[in-house]
Amino acid sequence: MALKPGERVLVVGCGPVGMVLTLALSQKGIPVTLLERADGPIDDQRAAAIQPSSLEMLADLGVVEEIHEKGLISPTFHYRDRMSGDLVAEFDFTQIADMTEFPYVIQYEQFKLVKTIIAEIGDTPDVEYRFSCEVTGLEQTADGVRLTFNNQDGEKEILTSSWVVGCDGFSSVIRQAADIEFVGFTYPEKFVKIGSDFDFQEAGIAYCIRNFFSDPDEWCNLFKVNGYGPPGIWRTVFPTRKDETDEECLSQEGIQGRLQKFFPKDGDYNIIYAGLYHVHQRVVETFHKGGVILAGDAAHVNNPIGGLGMNGGIHDAISLADKLVRVIGGEPEDLLDRYSRQRHKAQMDGVQATSIANKKLMEAKDPAVRNQQLDDVRRTAEDPQKARAYCLNAGLFTSLEKANAVT
Ligand SMILES: Cc1cc2nc3c(=O)[nH]c(=O)nc-3n(C[C@H](O)[C@H](O)[C@H](O)COP(=O)(O)OP(=O)(O)OC[C@H]3O[C@@H](n4cnc5c(N)ncnc54)[C@H](O)[C@@H]3O)c2cc1C
Repeated sequence: MALKPGERVLVVGCGPVGMVLTLALSQKGIPVTLLERADGPIDDQRAAAIQPSSLEMLADLGVVEEIHEKGLISPTFHYRDRMSGDLVAEFDFTQIADMTEFPYVIQYEQFKLVKTIIAEIGDTPDVEYRFSCEVTGLEQTADGVRLTFNNQDGEKEILTSSWVVGCDGFSSVIRQAADIEFVGFTYPEKFVKIGSDFDFQEAGIAYCIRNFFSDPDEWCNLFKVNGYGPPGIWRTVFPTRKDETDEECLSQEGIQGRLQKFFPKDGDYNIIYAGLYHVHQRVVETFHKGGVILAGDAAHVNNPIGGLGMNGGIHDAISLADKLVRVIGGEPEDLLDRYSRQRHKAQMDGVQATSIANKKLMEAKDPAVRNQQLDDVRRTAEDPQKARAYCLNAGLFTSLEKANAVT
């Protein structure tokens, strides 16, 4: 359905997915109003890994130079056995350099990506930002979608559009108001993420920028980001224990205890930030219902091992922008059902399957299963053909190819 005179696409959520979508639509001349409940873009410290396939998309949007300038280029990632300390496998994206301009991950925090995109959009009448506007509900009518929100003055306001896109994250009001089921499960444990300026590489171990430590007792992920400037920040992610409360986990004692157990050193770690996250594996039954469309965490969530969640959302935004522009231009609306089928496939076969397998590799408790899994990943890394396939999957090329094949 074309936009009526004066009508704008309503995008809810100024996270990375809402902003990629807004940039992609505005570059095609589609006017967007973006509603965000916070009073500006938020300093969200969750995602940092931008996969090679997403870098290609961000290059098409013209924002990849700044990501290279300010991010950390990471061609390799390591699997380690935390029990022995041994390096189990090294994967190197240069193995797929023949098919991508970007054979590496770039570690660039999601809040920086949002700011880069806002700068790229600049001052244009095509994009209107409505910060401090919390969407509370919607109604689908013959005239389009009536979106209700509390505006910046605390007053109830309504906007109507043929198209509303929910990029409003895990607790999406848009998804709930459209009555779209979020199918999957929630893990019993949470994940704690701790940022410290202690330099694990300088401490003498040949860690790379992205490291995954398997351990039946307590697995760990260790990554570097540039943070707020030199020397950068090393982020660790651990599962919480059944017997600990949130307060214990985030207490100084809890945080220092975890880091000292992982990497004993003299004196306390200097902590830059710490956060606790619920972890889920869920995908919506449909990404499209009438005038309502979903993208990003509003449509799917996964455990963060492997750095795939935001990337899957970026892929949604690019696929959706292409199809929504065509639908607004007069092509049939069932293109949006194709968007839904494609992105559902990409989630189920790619992001969900891979992140679940990654978590199993990290946490396996049965010694036989654990040894088998570590052996499999070691052999995969040693075999050039298998290692290449592994990198294509980890970089989300495989799921993209499968999704694009869906009609
Ligand atoms: C510890 C951790 C590490 C992670 N690391 C990675 C990684 O390295 N790589 C990766 O790809 N993914 C990673 N992820 C996942 C990634 O953070 C998310 O997939 C990503 O933030 C989703 O982006 P989004 O724009 O869809 O949603 P969000 O980033 O959640 O943004 C949603 C926006 O909507 C706004 N909003 C919500 N409700 C309303 C409302 N009612 N009205 C108006 N505005 C609203 C919010 O304020 C927010 O700004 C990680 C996740 C965790 C927990």
